[in-house]
Amino acid sequence: MRACLAGDGGIGNPSSSTHYFGKLAADLIEQARSDIAALIGADPRELIFTSGATESDNLAILGIARGRGDHGRHLITSRIEHKAVLDPCKYLQKRGWQITWLEPQADGLIDPEALRRALRSDTQLVSIMHANNETGIVQDIAAIARLCREAGVLLHVDAAQSVGKLPLDVHALDIDLLSLSAHKMYGPKGIGALYVSARARPWLEPLTYGGGHERGLRPGTLATHQITGFAAAARLAANRLHRDAEQAASLVHEFKRNLADLAGVRFNDYREDHPERRLPGLVSVTFERVEGESLLAALPEIAVSSGAACDSASGEPSYVLRAQGVPVEWARSTLRVAFGRGNTTEQARLAATVIRRAVLQLRDRDADSVPAAVLAPDVVWAVGEAGSYREGMRVRCYLACDAHGRIAAVGFRAFTCPDLWRVLQAFERQWLGHRPEIADLGAPAQWALQFQVPIEKLGRLIRVEDAWRAAKEALESKHSRGDTRP
Ligand SMILES: *Cc1c(COP(=O)(O)O)cnc(C)c1O
Repeated sequence: MRACLAGDGGIGNPSSSTHYFGKLAADLIEQARSDIAALIGADPRELIFTSGATESDNLAILGIARGRGDHGRHLITSRIEHKAVLDPCKYLQKRGWQITWLEPQADGLIDPEALRRALRSDTQLVSIMHANNETGIVQDIAAIARLCREAGVLLHVDAAQSVGKLPLDVHALDIDLLSLSAHKMYGPKGIGALYVSARARPWLEPLTYGGGHERGLRPGTLATHQITGFAAAARLAANRLHRDAEQAASLVHEFKRNLADLAGVRFNDYREDHPERRLPGLVSVTFERVEGESLLAALPEIAVSSGAACDSASGEPSYVLRAQGVPVEWARSTLRVAFGRGNTTEQARLAATVIRRAVLQLRDRDADSVPAAVLAPDVVWAVGEAGSYREGMRVRCYLACDAHGRIAAVGFRAFTCPDLWRVLQAFERQWLGHRPEIADLGAPAQWALQFQVPIEKLGRLIRVEDAWRAAKEALESKHSRGDTRP
């Protein structure tokens, strides 16, 4: 890549084949094309360079829709695809195409029988991913390809996650279109490819026009440095495929072993009967009764993401896990942990240790015990509750009053995000000095400003107010009855 950016390889336009510099660039690209094609068992002429798997997915789906639209307008995909597949399909749906969205089984697999039932005489394309980017579940592409072949329907496979990590042969599997991404296999960002079989080629229309590069399917000057880097990654991956997979499996084993005795842990990638149906190195793990955003915030020392590929502020749980039947409250409490080439056994252990510590701390915030602050002798206390795990916010407010019925202490137990936890802790501190003159808390909108809580979390602040009110009512009625029991 360096030679292409600074040396002779970077000067020429690979399309200018009359002079030395152009020829050099073209040679580098054709060598790279062969190396990348070899990784998936393709002929180099069947590979088209793109900017990444997002573009490849769009080109495959929209390009076939353009080329085959006159023959029928039905397409089959699944609910667990990457957005780069889901969104072009939704676009087509708005333009009058009929889309069948296959549901995965509880184990994350698409049932080939369900695909067989969904195939119609007007079906133009089936798009099913190889390995899922959140759970690492690997689909039975051989069975899916067989059904597509029998029905005479083209098959597109998004293999961004699996190329370079699992053996894959597009000819043996009889796939028509396959999306690849360099940066998912340790290559540079901004470069990918689409494999296009001879059978699919006549039916694929380009999405952009101007110059006829890449057999007219993806015009524009090729990025020699990116493509060279992509090929280097492909050669490395081919040489190390089995070694990488073995190492990743042993890291995952070590990680899981170190979490084995923790209660309320579910592995969403877990398929005991089909260990080969998993991407090496990827773990999707749910911690019951642990709030997802707080968990991520408590783990700054490890580079993991929420299983939900979502905007955490919106609190939308992962659609992949939801489609797999994982309840919404647990889908939010999921981590996606990926072990790769650079990781060590020590790091796998460390990851388990810091995750365990964070999980126990967060569960403690939500413990069933009464907070010590409200448990003074001769004090009457009551509890009010609001929210639920499903809502992503459950709070219990404990209030204690003095002999005059004035609030003397406040304590919280909560399953909630870091923003709300900050507010609850501030409320607790406010009463630590026993200041019964502060009779009220103010209003949620006021707290949002005071504690800089994002406005979309106002609903959660209102839940705090609900719990507070419920506790206050319970406390007042207890006090007026002279009841001193909990
Ligand atoms: C990352 C990814 C993509 C998008 O790839 P880019 O190269 O980043 O555009 C598409 N599909 C899957 C399954 C992915 O994991």
